[in-house]
Amino acid sequence: MELLKLNHCLRILAISLGILSWAVISQAAGLSAAHHIQIELIPDAKKLIGRDDITIKTNGTEVLEFRLAKRATRIEVQVNKNPRNFNFENGRLRLTLKPHERFGELQVTILYAAKFDDPVPVHPINMDNPGFGVTGTISEKGSFLLAGAGWYPDLVDSPASYRATVTAPSGLIAVTAGRSLGHRIESGKSVSDWEVKYPVEGLSLSVARYVVEEKSRDGVISATYLLPQNRHLAPAYLEATAGYLSLFSDLFGAYPFQKFAVVENFFPTGFGFPSYTLLGGRVLQLPFIIRTSLGHEIAHCWWGNGVYVEATQGNWSEGLTTYVADYRFKEMKSREAAREHRQQWLRNYSTLVTPQNDFALDRFQSRYDTVTRTIGYDKGAMVFHMIRRILGEEAFWGALRDIYRNRLFRRTSWSDLQHAFESRSKQSLQDFFDQWVHRRGAPRISLDEVRAEHTGNIWQVKGQIIQRKPYFSFPLMLALEARKQTAIQKIFVSGRATSFEVSSDHPPQKLTADPADDIFRRLSPSEIPPAVNALKSSPTVITVLSAELDPEIKKAAATLALSLGLKHNEFVTESELDRQMLAENDILVIGLPRRNDLLLKMPAGITIQSDSFSLNEKLFKKPVDTFFGVFEHPAAANRIAALFMPLSPQYAEVVARKITHYGKYSYLAFQNGKNLAKGIWPVETSPLVHEWDQVN
Ligand SMILES: [Zn+2]
Repeated sequence: MELLKLNHCLRILAISLGILSWAVISQAAGLSAAHHIQIELIPDAKKLIGRDDITIKTNGTEVLEFRLAKRATRIEVQVNKNPRNFNFENGRLRLTLKPHERFGELQVTILYAAKFDDPVPVHPINMDNPGFGVTGTISEKGSFLLAGAGWYPDLVDSPASYRATVTAPSGLIAVTAGRSLGHRIESGKSVSDWEVKYPVEGLSLSVARYVVEEKSRDGVISATYLLPQNRHLAPAYLEATAGYLSLFSDLFGAYPFQKFAVVENFFPTGFGFPSYTLLGGRVLQLPFIIRTSLGHEIAHCWWGNGVYVEATQGNWSEGLTTYVADYRFKEMKSREAAREHRQQWLRNYSTLVTPQNDFALDRFQSRYDTVTRTIGYDKGAMVFHMIRRILGEEAFWGALRDIYRNRLFRRTSWSDLQHAFESRSKQSLQDFFDQWVHRRGAPRISLDEVRAEHTGNIWQVKGQIIQRKPYFSFPLMLALEARKQTAIQKIFVSGRATSFEVSSDHPPQKLTADPADDIFRRLSPSEIPPAVNALKSSPTVITVLSAELDPEIKKAAATLALSLGLKHNEFVTESELDRQMLAENDILVIGLPRRNDLLLKMPAGITIQSDSFSLNEKLFKKPVDTFFGVFEHPAAANRIAALFMPLSPQYAEVVARKITHYGKYSYLAFQNGKNLAKGIWPVETSPLVHEWDQVN
């Protein structure tokens, strides 16, 4: 997850609502387990009663250790049907094995009860953290039990296969990974049976009053588990799911699971698990989810939930999934859409990641804020793009097929990926991985000393690419435009200065380095139009309340500051804002100020009045209209000013919650709380472009 297109901004919303790939990683110890989990949910008491019959192949192990909910009670343990003493402390249940039990097969039965009542967010305001800290909750509305919550005894350090039988009050249906063995009614209760035959590192469970729909294509079931009010969405999701499954199967190899299910969550969180995705109802209703997040989550069934991540060496799966799904969908649309997407990655990195909070890609584990998202997803994807540019189509996609074939259900590291790309392309990528994966930062480059020399009928364009430290080495394209013709030349940049020479039969007009934005780099400030993201990552903001502001709009201003996650934010009235405060801070102005010195740098194309505004010649004057824009600061270079101007209090609060999802945009217009217009100011100058004055 461009006044750009609707689907793009909605994608940001989807991401912010949190779609997180789930792969629990631990150290393998040679144990393997087959569970038969039988639980009964008692939603009115927020608890479950469980029994797990586990067949374990021991391998010299002296102590078996299980993760089980800290608050588990009524625990009983049997080994080969005989009661056994155990130790249970701080969510760890330990059994000491007798010498003759340490090699071979053991039958361990664990009985337990546990309460799960994590509070569930209803209308979260700031959604950069996708998990909301909820790991387990059982309620009348639904139940959500994450793999790490200890809802069954999870044998530490061992992948396992599962049979899960979930009994619940009538009408409640359980869904998890693997294959459904059916849902039935028994003694007035509902029973759901599931089987997971491949090695999963932790099982999650969702239970609610689902309406189940299924569709089979090429031996794989697409399924939806939706709450009754969203059941009408099923046909579109089933169709799209089947389409993605065949798209990715063609690209990478056969889908590794028997089904893929779209499961509705009863609160606004989203996850991608092996063979299903769990999305909040409001997210599912967004029309672009089918075109964006759904494909991303399905791609994770190959990358992250199929080929596992060796997390000790960094999580590569988000970058790769973003590249082969989100980015590839843009590429399938058009070359220009793909390029805009790459530009956005560069803008995100350049505005959201500073030299202080930057870190190497191999240190990325999971997304919990905009910095981790930008490095793990955006930079990660751009690194795969650069690998593809070096390797070419056949070797790049071939290497991904090799990795999938050789490493399905195995923990896989950046170096495993490196080896696969190297053996397909028959070249060392050590320097590439060292600088892009194992080192933080990004190149900062500019054109320098560009000049054209005319001899005979030939123009020689000479110049240098100058790098600031730390230096990177990479191939770089140069495009020289001369009389409607473009000459492309590839050079190899390294060190502080790299000289180049390009010749042309015509007088040169424009020289552009990296014309297609194929290189991951830190943009110069002139290349980044002011946008919502700049406000979100600002170190200090002063929120300026204009005079005679409606109290409801004041309240919305507080919501806006909170949802943007503003740091060191201070509220002042416009009369309290002195010259020094103005010069030393980014400002967010609420309502049309009386002072005329705050919005001096508002771009052409926008007119603001007390009861109307116009944007690119479109007039907005209804009380239900709201304007939001980010511009250059009136008094300080490299700072920004923003204006939030609802024409009445009516939709102020609604819009205040939404703006944070439009991070890359410079300006937004809303009507009745819905976005009607959005855009990014054009870039006026770039250090990678040199233009010649046109004589004649
Ligand atoms: Zn993902």
